[in-house]
Amino acid sequence: MRVRFWGTRGSIATPGPTTLRFGGNTSCVEVVTNSGARFVFDCGTGARLLGLDLMARAPKPIRARLLLGHTHWDHIQGFPFFVPLFVPGNEMSICAPAGVGQSLAEVLAGQMEFTYFPVALDQLPAKIEYQELSEGTYEFDGVRVITQFLNHPATSLAYRIEADGVVVVYACDHEPFASPLWREGAKPGYIESILHDGDRRHALCIKHADLLIHDAQYTPEEYPSKKNWGHSTYQYAVELAASADVRRLALTHHDPAHDDAFLEKVEQSARELARKRNLALYVFCAYEGCEVEVEAPESDRLRTVEVGDAALVSPDRLRVLVIDDDPNLRLLVNSALGPDGYQVTEAEDGAQGLARARAERPHLILLDVNMPEMDGFAVLERLRAGDETRRIPVLMLTVRDSEASIRAGFDAGATDYLAKPFTIPQLTARVRACVSRSGKY
Ligand SMILES: [Zn+2]
Ligand SMILES: [Zn+2]
Repeated sequence: MRVRFWGTRGSIATPGPTTLRFGGNTSCVEVVTNSGARFVFDCGTGARLLGLDLMARAPKPIRARLLLGHTHWDHIQGFPFFVPLFVPGNEMSICAPAGVGQSLAEVLAGQMEFTYFPVALDQLPAKIEYQELSEGTYEFDGVRVITQFLNHPATSLAYRIEADGVVVVYACDHEPFASPLWREGAKPGYIESILHDGDRRHALCIKHADLLIHDAQYTPEEYPSKKNWGHSTYQYAVELAASADVRRLALTHHDPAHDDAFLEKVEQSARELARKRNLALYVFCAYEGCEVEVEAPESDRLRTVEVGDAALVSPDRLRVLVIDDDPNLRLLVNSALGPDGYQVTEAEDGAQGLARARAERPHLILLDVNMPEMDGFAVLERLRAGDETRRIPVLMLTVRDSEASIRAGFDAGATDYLAKPFTIPQLTARVRACVSRSGKY
């Protein structure tokens, strides 16, 4: 399997003399299997160069499957400049996580309205097919592709491609579910020692990757002031890769503020950390034009992972109960979820929440940990003990982002754990993952 990086920058294209080495174009990575199936991770500005290259050398007509992690600008801005779309006979399949209120085609058409661009989406001569994805296992062009939700202020997916006896994972625009990463007292470096179930699930998704392409926008020093922006540090990427037995790690989605000299230092620091954690892990900062031939290792390794299939759900008429003594928080949840079509009901304390949960059987409960009288843990315990409420997913909301609190929540049966303060896009993305995973409606 051959992998080529066409865009390695995050957030916004950053051309200029200080980014010559690692590149200034935004996310775009091409993957071609030995059988010739062609996948493109993201369509940032790097896709323009890829398009020109395909026109020059790929067999015609050009067939490719674009796997978009999500539709933030830096992941779709190259799409209108991807020349193969302008040639009749070419066939493009475009995949992305299902959005809310707008189809994938409508979202892509948005940036091509005449105010912004002279050619509308439906005027493109190539044959284009759209497929909206959830979390699960797919087969595309005979290749097994596994998707998993990421932690980002937009519903985003990681892609795991298993073909030719190797595994390539693309996980961009993702930030740790919790810091610290490890459970207190547990031996760090092992997947079982990971504190938050979300980070553990992420580690399982990248497990045994022969090449992991991972978001590493920040340094550990920068991260505290960028928390909740949806990006990782190189430290998180290295720690996870080392614990998940990854062979090669390409750090990418470089911050626009990081010039070549800075990224060289990031690469050094990441390598030092990798040496301490797992000598078999090779780390590098991805650069534009970088080509990696991914070959099967000599030793036998487990090649595949299983991910539960999540449903493609529409929020319309899904009932969400928020139990929180803080009226501002309840208001925030209402204004975040209401416009998407969720039916939000409220309870202002634990007892009222339990009564409502039993009577209304919501599809999801948002539960504050810190409440007077009956706190969130006591409510959760009763919910899990009751036949009619046992299976309702519960997303815990807490200001106590402590190791003990998070672990206690998961051990008591919480589905997910979100630390306050959070933003509206973070909440909606997390709620969507919870309801999608919990089944079909
Ligand atoms: Zn991005
Ligand atoms: Zn993003």
